[in-house]
Parts: sequence; C-alpha cells; structure tokens
Amino acid sequence: MIAHEDELTALDQEIGDGDHGTNMRVGFEHVLAEVDQLAARELPAALDAIGQLLLRHIGGASGPLYATLFIELARAVPANPSRGELARGLGRAVDALRSRGRTNFGEKTLFDVWEPVRQALELGMSGPESIKATADQAARATIDRQAKRGRAAYLGERSIGHMDPGARSSAILIASICDQYPLLSNS
Ligand code: ADP
Ligand code: MG
Repeated sequence: MIAHEDELTALDQEIGDGDHGTNMRVGFEHVLAEVDQLAARELPAALDAIGQLLLRHIGGASGPLYATLFIELARAVPANPSRGELARGLGRAVDALRSRGRTNFGEKTLFDVWEPVRQALELGMSGPESIKATADQAARATIDRQAKRGRAAYLGERSIGHMDPGARSSAILIASICDQYPLLSNS
C-alpha cells in the first residue's frame, strides 16, 4: 500500500480530492511500525488492532470503512480459521462495510471489489491467483460506472471513465493478503 501511494494519489486526483494515496500510506505506515507486536498476537486480536490503527490514522472516508472491515473480521473469525470460517467471517465484515458506507454493489466504491471477492470465497474459489484476478477485474470494472457514493458522486457522469481509488487500494490489499497469508496462498 505504501509503495502504491503515487498511483492512488493520481486516481483520487481524477475523481476525488487527491488524498487517497497519502491516507493509505500514513495508515499502513502505522501498521508497519507495529508489525512485530501485531504478528505476535492471535489473528482476531491482530485484525482488531490493525482496524483501530487504520481508524485512528487514515483521514477521509476510507479510514472508517477499512477499519470496519478489519474490526468486524476480527469479531467474526476464530484464531485459526478454516477456509470456510474465513469466508463466512469475511461475508460478515463485507456486510458491515456495506451498512457503514450505506452503499450497494455497482456504486463505484471499494465495496464493488469486496463483494465479488467475498462471493468467490463463499463459492469455494481456491488459489491466490484466481482471488487476485477477481479483485483486479472488479476494480477495473469500476471504470465504466458512475459514482453514487463519496466525493466522486458529485461529478455525476463525469466520474465515468476513471477507476475508483478505493477499489484499486482494495485490490492492492487483497493481492498482498493472498501473497502473504498461508491459508489463502497454500491451497
Ligand atoms: P475522501 O473521499 O474523504 O477523500 P479517500 O480519498 O481516502 O477519502 O477515499 C475515497 C474512497 O472511499 C473512494 O474511492 C471510495 O472507494 C470510498 N468511499 C467513499 N465513500 C464511500 C461509501 N459511502 N461507501 C463505500 N466506499 C466509499
Ligand atoms: Mg480523497
């Protein structure tokens, strides 16, 4: 996320206020600074702590939304989840994201990426590459949509033709989880 700051800034300059790259970098720098303590905790406690850091340090609309995902996932998964338990937990977290954002699929937000990824996991999609491809395609699919939520919605039809910054940062996050988290990367 930190390495993608400039790309996310450029996307948010097109249909927002240009701060998404900085917001995400700052939030995840705080996570990185505590990564050893986080890694020493059990999964739910680590996820909750990441969510609290993001809530405190990411400015903008995306902060509470990403925080909701992590904090609700923390509540919904056991310490050593099976793939099925992870899929069900993610389903609950993505439902919480939808409520928090008051959004639905197709409104050109980060929810447009998490919803298809959650569905893919619930359908038992295996393999990190297919999950990454699902997220990537879902982010690209926001290009042709008109924004209905967030700052980009003020642009109306002029929001069409640009990838949603939060959808792109979600695809980046999902790709790095697939690369690093053994439960997803081993199967
Ligand atoms: P801000 O819009 O406050 O500048 P960011 O630039 O960090 O915050 O984040 C913008 C991203 O947040 C958008 O690209 C979109 O994906 C996401 N977003 C904004 N509002 C909502 C919402 N109501 N529901 C879901 N996602 C949203
Ligand atoms: Mg912004």
